[in-house]
Amino acid sequence: MSPETGPLLEVRGLVREFELPGRTFFGPRRFLTAVSDVSFTIRRGEILGLVGESGSGKTTIGRIVMRLLDPTRGQVLFDGLDLTAMKGRKLRQQRRRFQMVFQDPYASLNPRMRVGEIVGEPLLIHGLADSPSWRREKVARLFDRVGLSSHDLERYPREFSGGGRQRVGIARAIACSPDLLVADEPIASLDLSIGAQIINLFASLNETERMSLLFISHDLSVVRYLSDRVVVLYRGQAVESGPTREVFAAPAHPYTRLLVSQDPAALAEPRNGESGSSGLCSFLPRCPDALPVCREVAPKRSEVDGGGREVVCHLAFGQASWTPSSPSPSIQGSA
Ligand code: SF4
Repeated sequence: MSPETGPLLEVRGLVREFELPGRTFFGPRRFLTAVSDVSFTIRRGEILGLVGESGSGKTTIGRIVMRLLDPTRGQVLFDGLDLTAMKGRKLRQQRRRFQMVFQDPYASLNPRMRVGEIVGEPLLIHGLADSPSWRREKVARLFDRVGLSSHDLERYPREFSGGGRQRVGIARAIACSPDLLVADEPIASLDLSIGAQIINLFASLNETERMSLLFISHDLSVVRYLSDRVVVLYRGQAVESGPTREVFAAPAHPYTRLLVSQDPAALAEPRNGESGSSGLCSFLPRCPDALPVCREVAPKRSEVDGGGREVVCHLAFGQASWTPSSPSPSIQGSA
């Protein structure tokens, strides 16, 4: 897991809004912001963990990266190409280079096709193995790579366990040797030991095939084990990011600290009844460390400790020396 330099994926200022239903004839349109100004990069050969609770926007980001959903604003650059502006044949040509592994493999596999056909289909679509015998041989190798037997080729998805189906899903995703895998909660529906095997399979694909990975999960322990760098999401905003080891060893954002503490009571309970949609810090209603400045000024993104660590929190600047109603808050230690 030693990432090579140079970005493979650059996500810049991503915003995604969804219109809320229930608009009256003369009433204004109302929107829910699922993703708010999220930026990150994935270098070649790197594993980036995208972590957050349910509803934090991580799946929406994965779907935008895969071009299954359009962003409201922002850009996704893949190997320097603007995917968000790409359409038609150009997009289809690039698609084989980034593939997705879904949470529910059963829903993503056609139940009427044999798994050998399912895994071979992308090869056919992208013209990478037109001869049936060559395709069969390639699919058998893929089965072997993901820990399935070539005897399984003629079986149907329903004949596999959850772990087996996820292996089929991964074999299909890697069939065209993509540069990037986007895995959205790929072990959430598996039991612990099978999930561990699938995680080791991802680690091995990264190690030997140099596949980069955007690993989306609510499970901190898995992200900690697998990823080189991590982005922590809260209500659609990237509140902290940086090298996984450093973020977990000394989390700088109060929300990351809460996640790392794994304290279910603290995670479940808003600290007070304030709304998180005030334009201030979205974590304010739950923050145990809120400062007076937090009730008047939204925090900006800032770099801490160098080395690519970023935090959106007033605490990142050190102790606040601001007093309520001062026109321009100053924080000790700010640049
Ligand atoms: Fe807490 Fe203030 Fe930081 Fe928000 S900006 S996380 S309220 S300390």
